[in-house]
Amino acid sequence: MSPAAGTRRRRTRSPGRGTIASGDGAALAAALAAAHPDGHAAVAGQTPEWRAFVGRWLEATGSTVSAAARGDWEVELSPALKRRWRRQRVRLVFDPLRPTLPRGAWFTAPGSGAGRRILEAALEEPLYTRRTALPRVPGVSEEGLAAVCRVRGLAWGPARLGPVRYERRVSFHAVATRWGGLPSQEPWVVLFGPQGDLLEWKSESDLPGVRSREELYQIADDLPAAERARWFEQARRHIDRLLAERGQEWEQAVARLRDDELERLGAFFSARLEEEEERLRRRTSNGEESEIEQGDSTSLKLEWERRAAEVRARWELKTEVRVWGLTEWAWPMAELEQELRAGAVHLRIRSRVDVARGLPALPACPTCGAPAEMLVRARGAVACVKCARA
Ligand SMILES: [Zn+2]
Repeated sequence: MSPAAGTRRRRTRSPGRGTIASGDGAALAAALAAAHPDGHAAVAGQTPEWRAFVGRWLEATGSTVSAAARGDWEVELSPALKRRWRRQRVRLVFDPLRPTLPRGAWFTAPGSGAGRRILEAALEEPLYTRRTALPRVPGVSEEGLAAVCRVRGLAWGPARLGPVRYERRVSFHAVATRWGGLPSQEPWVVLFGPQGDLLEWKSESDLPGVRSREELYQIADDLPAAERARWFEQARRHIDRLLAERGQEWEQAVARLRDDELERLGAFFSARLEEEEERLRRRTSNGEESEIEQGDSTSLKLEWERRAAEVRARWELKTEVRVWGLTEWAWPMAELEQELRAGAVHLRIRSRVDVARGLPALPACPTCGAPAEMLVRARGAVACVKCARA
C-alpha cells in the first residue's frame, strides 16, 4: 500500500462556506483520470460536474468567483491561493474550443495545466466543512424496533422515543485510485463516531439518505486538539484497513486479466517456437548448418520472457487514497425504548435511533448482549437465535 494513503490533517479551519456536494467525488475522479496519462481521458472533457467542483472548491477556499463573458470566470483569489500562485486574480476559461485565450487567462479543462494545478491544491488541503444532519419527523416509524428486529412467540409494544441529542461525527471524503492494469477510481465516504469508531463506509461521494445544513447548530464546543488528533489516528487506521480489503478484491480481479494476457502471450510464443523447431528439423535433416537457427529460438525465448515481465509490471497493483474533503457533523440521535411482550412477560428493550435517517440500531440480545436481528423465547427467557440454539 502506498504511504500516501491516508489523511492529511488540517488543524486550522477554512472559511468553510463550501459544501461537499454529491457529484464532487465523481467530478474529481474524472478529472484525476484525465490528469493521469493512463487515465480514461475521454471521460473528463467539458463536464458540468468539473466546473461545479472548481466553483465550490474556489468558494470554499475563500476566493470570489464572478461570471465573465463567454462563460468564463473571473476569480479574485483567496490570500492563501494568492501566495501559492503568485497572482491576485485569474480568469478561468472552460470552453475547450476557444481559439485564443485572454491575456493571462487559464484554460481550465481537467487534464490541462491549470486543471492539474487546481486539482493539486484541492488534494493538498481537504475542504473542511461543518454540517448538521437534519432530524426526521417523526424520528422513527411507529413500529420502532419491529422494523429491524423480528420476533417469534413475542410481540412488540409501542415504541417510545426519547429526546433528540446531537453527537459529533466526522466523515472523510476520498478518492481511492488503483494504478496498474486498468486504472480505476472510486469515490469513498467514511463516517466515524464520537469514539473514532467506524460507523459507515460507502463507495459514494456523499453519505446517502441524509439531509443537512451547513454549520454545527447543535454542538457549541470545539473539539479539543488532543481528541481531534486521536480521532484522525483512528480514522487513518480504519482507512488503511479498508484500502487493504479493497486492494485484495482488486488484486483478484486484476490477477484474472493478467493471467489471461500471459496465457495469450504464451500461446503466441509457443506456436512461434514450434514453427522454429519444425523448420530446424527440416533443415537439419537436409544437412544444413543449424547454429543460427538455434540462436533464433533462443532469442524467441528471451523475447517471450521480456514481454511476460512487461505484462506483469503493467498489471502490478498500486493503490492510494486521497482525502479531499472532511466534514465534522452534528448528528441527531435518540434513545428508543420498547416493550417486548409474551403473556405475563414484559421486557423493556432499549436501543438507539439515528434520527437523521429514522433508523433504529439493532437491539441487544437480553441474554448475550450481541446485536440481534431476531428475538425468540427460550427456556422462559428472551434470547437471540444463537442463544436459543446454545
Ligand atoms: Zn443472545
